[in-house]
Amino acid sequence: MTALGTNIPLYDLHVHLRGGMTVEKAVARQEESGIMRGVLRNIGTGWPIETDEQLAEFLDGVAGFPVLVGLQVNDRDWHLKHSPELLGRLDFVLADTMIMAMPDDDAPPTKLWMPELYTIDDPEAWMRRYMQHNLRILAEPISIFANPTYLPEAVKHLYDELWTDQRMAEIIQRAVAEGIALEIQATSEYPHDRFIGMAKDMGAVFSLGTNNFDDIPIDMKRCHDVVARFGLRAGDLYRPSRGPLGRGKALS
Ligand SMILES: [Zn+2]
Repeated sequence: MTALGTNIPLYDLHVHLRGGMTVEKAVARQEESGIMRGVLRNIGTGWPIETDEQLAEFLDGVAGFPVLVGLQVNDRDWHLKHSPELLGRLDFVLADTMIMAMPDDDAPPTKLWMPELYTIDDPEAWMRRYMQHNLRILAEPISIFANPTYLPEAVKHLYDELWTDQRMAEIIQRAVAEGIALEIQATSEYPHDRFIGMAKDMGAVFSLGTNNFDDIPIDMKRCHDVVARFGLRAGDLYRPSRGPLGRGKALS
């Protein structure tokens, strides 16, 4: 399938194998819709893949299927901890910023989508720390920066104050410099249009994805709308190509 009468090949590079979703179903839907799928699992402490044995098992389990294969990385030492040979078998690596040390940098990583686990007393001070967290993730050898400009529930009403143009530009500039794609997620309100427009102007590459929790098909309307509204072309969209640590290139 191509987007809205254009000839842009579409990808869904955020298909979790969880909640009944399997690689076989991903392949079937790819054939049905023409949208290429990238399947992945979460890796990190307390996540489905913690060890190299489990990573090898995952990679062997999806080998031979005509889908792209990735990981969502949840710990910040993943690239130091796992076998380069195993990581080299990936097509892409995706990371979001939704797990962060709270309440300070020395505290344990906390799931920001669980508001009962923490409070944000000073949003501006938190945002300064969150920016550093974002930039640290953008320094990892990832290919897709997922759910960019995400804000937790407690401060989401402050989006325009916290995400100043300057901060957005810093994130985008780093992503462009590192060749990291910025995700437009079908099921998220992030990033807002101001970020997408700025990213497009600054030469960023975008990745489309659904981020499923089960095997119920997800409408990619939000992604297609962004492609149409911002006039994105094939060269603006990320397509993985096999390489060290999942680094990819945009279509040209
Ligand atoms: Zn995900």
